Amino acid sequence: MQQSLWLQHVTPLTTSTVTSDMTCDICIIGAGLSGIYTSYLLAKEGFNVVVVEAKAIGSGATVYSTGKLTAQHGALFHTLPEEHAKLYYHANKDAIEHALNTACNKTFIRATSFLYTTEQNKRIQLEQEHTAYEKIGIPSIATNDTELNVNVQLALGMKDEAQIHPVSFLLHFAKLAQKEGVQLFTNTRITHVTNDPTATTEDGYTITCDKLILCTHYPIESLSGLTTTKLTINRTYLTAVKTKELLNGQYLSIDSSSRTIRTALIEADPYFIYGGMSHAAGMESETAKYYDTLSKELETVYDLPAPSYLWSAQDMATPDKLPFVGPISKDSPIFITTGYNKWGLSNSLVAAEILRGIFTKNEHPATALYYPNRIKGRTIYEMLVQVGFIGEQFIGGHITRISAPKCTHLGCKTRWNTADETWDCPCHGSRYDKNGDVIEGPAVYPLDLKNSE
Ligand SMILES: Cc1cc2nc3c(=O)[nH]c(=O)nc-3n(C[C@H](O)[C@H](O)[C@H](O)COP(=O)(O)OP(=O)(O)OC[C@H]3O[C@@H](n4cnc5c(N)ncnc54)[C@H](O)[C@@H]3O)c2cc1C
Repeated sequence: MQQSLWLQHVTPLTTSTVTSDMTCDICIIGAGLSGIYTSYLLAKEGFNVVVVEAKAIGSGATVYSTGKLTAQHGALFHTLPEEHAKLYYHANKDAIEHALNTACNKTFIRATSFLYTTEQNKRIQLEQEHTAYEKIGIPSIATNDTELNVNVQLALGMKDEAQIHPVSFLLHFAKLAQKEGVQLFTNTRITHVTNDPTATTEDGYTITCDKLILCTHYPIESLSGLTTTKLTINRTYLTAVKTKELLNGQYLSIDSSSRTIRTALIEADPYFIYGGMSHAAGMESETAKYYDTLSKELETVYDLPAPSYLWSAQDMATPDKLPFVGPISKDSPIFITTGYNKWGLSNSLVAAEILRGIFTKNEHPATALYYPNRIKGRTIYEMLVQVGFIGEQFIGGHITRISAPKCTHLGCKTRWNTADETWDCPCHGSRYDKNGDVIEGPAVYPLDLKNSE
């Protein structure tokens, strides 16, 4: 099993498991940044909040991310209508600044975020993005002179952004949430939710609440809104190796094969973090080649030794690349936060602010932009494409991977991932460790490894 750099040298928080039935105002399932930060903001408003986490706090995508806390989300702004671009930028920028005001200053540093390209024909995209920045009023810089060892055609910088240590940042807000009265329960998987709303744990305890928020990354139950038929899932690889000095900026290329780069100081040692090589989740078995490519580039381009940390992670995207935050269907007491398109650190903060606005009847300006059922016109088409894809994976898997264990979500055949040593489901991205235990959902039950044919 590969390891995330962020999971080194951290002291977990003391919490307990759910051992009785409970009632509360708001039950949040999942203790990644979405769940934790939302619980903190809601408890500050006086709500009685319970958070239930399947494993330890910070077991999901948050702690396998690159840790860039920025409103620069790829070359997105020039693709959005101007009003949406402004709303999206300000929602993210403001949420980041609000969180940094209460974050411990040991958990983040300021950095300029750069988008760059080494390909001549991609320059135009960055120029268009730069024009969008100017219209929105984003403080920016355009240059081809960067700290990187590659021939940059153009780099577009968004000034005064941040980079975090995702685990320390998360644990800081978990402690603040506890101080505000949030009850945090770990090692307790929720296996079922109902519209009452009630959440049931794997041991059969129930948590009854007024509102229930699924911060489980991929929503574990969402058929009532059919929201998940609109999600696509992408997996990306990351590496980290000790380096001599820290970079000033953090970088993401928009090249045909994108690369993400930043540095981080861990226990006084500077590390170079280098990633890329994305593919649809659950679709690849021979994954070592992705780490190999990144390791080779570290050596040949950056003159660095073989990385000491290798990890991978996945994230969901919606058809319009903007997240889904809000009720799962109209007037439902069940809410979701998902579809962050690999920008869920800042978008978790926005999600929390939107949900706080909904529950306190003080609407956040971006509520409609993030509303889960906003995508009407494309729904049937998107659904057909997705249902077709899942049907193909379901039937294809049962023909070609007869002995692979069946995903406990909807029965698709999983695929063995050689480098990460996990069973990955191509249908909805569920992942299991080699013993069959769930790493990430939507699955909630372990694999049956004994009777896998
Ligand atoms: C390679 C990669 C790099 C990224 N880098 C960045 C970046 O630099 N900046 C950025 O903004 N975004 C980044 N992202 C995206 C970001 O990491 C995610 O969008 C974000 O962390 C999602 O947070 P979350 O709290 O919603 O989910 P998670 O962090 O996954 O938390 C969900 C939690 O729910 C728990 N859970 C699941 N099911 C259950 C259940 N049934 N019962 C109880 N608990 C359950 C899980 O154990 C988990 O702890 C990156 C993504 C990838 C793939």
